[in-house]
Amino acid sequence: TVPLLELEGIARHWPVKGGVVRAVDGVSFSLRRGETLALVGESGCGKSTTARLALRLIEPSAGRARIDGVDINGLSGGALRRMRRRAQIIFQDPFASLNPRLSVGDAIEEPLIVHGVGDKAARAARVRELLGLVGLAEWQAGRFPHEFSGGQRQRIGIARALAVQPELIICDEPVSALDVSIQAQVVNLLKDLQARFGLAYLFIAHDLAVVKHMADRVAVMYLGRIVEVAETRRLFADPRHPYTRALLAAIPRPDPRRRGMVTPLGGDVPSPLNPPPGCRFHTRCPLAQAVCREVEPPAVEVAPGHHSACHFAAELPPVEQVAEGGLS
Ligand code: SF4
Ligand code: MG
Repeated sequence: TVPLLELEGIARHWPVKGGVVRAVDGVSFSLRRGETLALVGESGCGKSTTARLALRLIEPSAGRARIDGVDINGLSGGALRRMRRRAQIIFQDPFASLNPRLSVGDAIEEPLIVHGVGDKAARAARVRELLGLVGLAEWQAGRFPHEFSGGQRQRIGIARALAVQPELIICDEPVSALDVSIQAQVVNLLKDLQARFGLAYLFIAHDLAVVKHMADRVAVMYLGRIVEVAETRRLFADPRHPYTRALLAAIPRPDPRRRGMVTPLGGDVPSPLNPPPGCRFHTRCPLAQAVCREVEPPAVEVAPGHHSACHFAAELPPVEQVAEGGLS
């Protein structure tokens, strides 16, 4: 069957003095209807740019994005508008994406007007329904964004995205700015809405802990590339890329056996301006060998549906063994 969203070698480069910035550099994945795929990595690795390329909010330098098998870069006018109705996006800072002068009711109605849905009375009824769906009260429609908390504003952002009955919602770090207790509420709301409406999510986060109970599959991104992708349980149980292991080691956990899986990450993500040759992670990888500095590792399938782009993907010791014996 045709995936709902498919990226094939998509890239976003731009020339600057001294080289080329490779923000996204050949990303491929597909997302099925009703599925949640998490895209995880440190800030600056190209996650948000990938999200925007997937909806053609920005133009790719290479590669394709397909929704339901249709290359969205070939669309314009009405066809592009219809595609945009099927795929919505919510952002980390809902306040920045909400017009402060529009009441919340007007903000939720706006996408309905843009897409020509219903008359005034039908839209008003839909706005009331949407407020209820995201756990806000009807009387709050007349209030303005600054009167709401961060978690409530994210609910408003979700209501706006849901308004036109999309099949796919791209969630660009929707809970990263929220307190941990509020994060869980918003994640649970997204899960409820998914079960109810069969939504697919591309869920972006910089923290693997956030996606553990949310995602069906996880794609780990580093410096413009996907370095590992697997079904969520597999990725947590048997990560096959040192970068994934470092991200997992960074999650605070009570079980001491799981500590020290790999040296936690030092330093920052290198600049996407002229990224390191060979394996892009070699400047921070505790397992880097000479070959890593010269030869770019291809993605290999280490188990069905589990891909890792590391020269030693198949040879890494199991995580439990690492925890007991340490890395050698
Ligand atoms: Fe580390 Fe080498 Fe694997 Fe890259 S290819 S992740 S540098 S061991
Ligand atoms: Mg971002």
